[in-house]
Amino acid sequence: MTGEGNARGLLTVVSAPSGAGKNTVIAEILRLRPGLYFSVSATTRPPRQGETDAVSYHFVTRGEFTALIDAGELLEYAEYAGDLYGTPKREIIDNLGCGRDCIMDIDVQGARSIREKIPEAVTIFLTVSGIPELERRLRARGTDSEEKLQSRLAIARGELREAELFDHIVINDDVSRAAREILDIMDKAKNERNDA
Ligand code: 5GP
Repeated sequence: MTGEGNARGLLTVVSAPSGAGKNTVIAEILRLRPGLYFSVSATTRPPRQGETDAVSYHFVTRGEFTALIDAGELLEYAEYAGDLYGTPKREIIDNLGCGRDCIMDIDVQGARSIREKIPEAVTIFLTVSGIPELERRLRARGTDSEEKLQSRLAIARGELREAELFDHIVINDDVSRAAREILDIMDKAKNERNDA
């Protein structure tokens, strides 16, 4: 499903409240669809245990992030829980241009900007049954201070209210099922585009 003919690649945007298991679902999608390009964002957030620079994120200082903004190198960026996150423009534009499908994991504000800039993008909101389940998962992850955790939950409440603005909502009660559901959505979007 990637790199076919001269057609542009399909861009899929996945947003999820913190704790919904988005990283695990995206890792499963990439395992099942190795040709898919995952957009590695830049962030000023410090790396968590197990995260690798240039794979999970490009970990940068605030000064470096500001330089990326000033040089026009970010397709979009947003502040989330006190840190900056942004999508490098060049990689996405080049990959889509040569027909490779791309997937990005960005917050709800970022999804809003992408919808304006690339209206043909498919937007997916990945979530779980509700705030108590998110809180349970965030506490189990154990990577955030109580203050950061409360800030992530407060943001999640706002994000859940925006879910209906996305093209699709996928419930992550099973990683493999959620990954397959997202791949089905992507395949249908490509088929519909090819038939149009
Ligand atoms: P985390 O710190 O949990 O990795 O990510 C926090 C939030 O930032 C998540 O909602 C994630 O999707 C979002 N995020 C990651 N990269 C980007 C990006 O490039 N742009 C925007 N707008 N949000 C991002």
